[in-house]
Amino acid sequence: MAVTMPGRPLTRLDRNECTSLLPGVAEAIRGDVDGWHCYPDPDAWLLTEMLAAKLRLHPDEIVVGPGSAELLERVLRTCVGGTRGQVVYAAPAFEAYADLVRRAGAVPVAVAHGATNIDALLAAVTPSTRAVIVCNPHNPTGAALTAADLDYLLANVGRNVLVVVDEAYKEFVADVANADSPDGVGFVARGHDQVVVTRTFSKAHGLAGLRVGYLAARPALARVLRRAGLPFHVSAPAQIAAAASLRADSTLESRCSWIRGERERVRHALHAAGFLQVPRSHANFVWIPLPSAAEAFVSHCADSGFAVRGYPGYGVRISLAAPADNAEFIRVAARARMIEQ
Ligand code: PMP
Repeated sequence: MAVTMPGRPLTRLDRNECTSLLPGVAEAIRGDVDGWHCYPDPDAWLLTEMLAAKLRLHPDEIVVGPGSAELLERVLRTCVGGTRGQVVYAAPAFEAYADLVRRAGAVPVAVAHGATNIDALLAAVTPSTRAVIVCNPHNPTGAALTAADLDYLLANVGRNVLVVVDEAYKEFVADVANADSPDGVGFVARGHDQVVVTRTFSKAHGLAGLRVGYLAARPALARVLRRAGLPFHVSAPAQIAAAASLRADSTLESRCSWIRGERERVRHALHAAGFLQVPRSHANFVWIPLPSAAEAFVSHCADSGFAVRGYPGYGVRISLAAPADNAEFIRVAARARMIEQ
């Protein structure tokens, strides 16, 4: 997708979107148009039940909302709101966290190296900590924690601290059947009542424009979070599109599998171009650590027609796109070698 900046359109590699809807989704939306004079189902029950069946949870353990950012806001407002308590997460982070935490009347605590080091996160936990947000896989670095890491966090964080596992990029994790694969939903299924998992249809399912996400939590907490949402705020087309996306499971899997291959190809090509520190990614983007040149790299890319996301002091995140765009981006990055490392 292109974005118009003053003067020229840029190819967008800065939003981690997928490039298309899954099959059957557009048809399902068109087929539903005649019902749009009515309000949508306020609880999105069809979608909730489909998600529960897929995740092997009870429908009472799922809450559907208009995107996972809204659900994160709702969790923080409801569980942490007004306490002036602290919310701990890894730095660099999804930009919205700091804002959502502050909106909830709490204090953001961003921890260097926390994406891969649970001890670093735990060291930042104090008696004032109300929640820890774990983004897994981690935006922006693409790092993934294991189930053992999450076990360790839960065993040591303290019973009164809410653990929010943001799994916006979960579908892109390799080898999801592996027992070691990180899966926050499994912790909910095993009865952990201090865990909330958020997921989205915006990334792998390609529905960012329709705004739909969901969370999983034990029934008592899920009930509170369901009531904390505004009525009717997941639109009928969003509910229909998400349900149709869930039915397109096999195409979703082949899309994700292609992305897993493409991110490794891009990583190797970046290594070959001299970016030797690019780590393995578990998401639909790659991360170039550039602690002292992130802004310069972003403007070099913009001058060459690409929008990428810079994290000053840390590095740059590049969303995977169509092969031709990825190949052209690598050529552009290679020309920026002089500003690297
Ligand atoms: N969490 C993470 C880690 C994200 O990167 C994003 C979107 N970039 C979101 C949550 C929010 O996604 P949405 O509101 O579209 O579901």
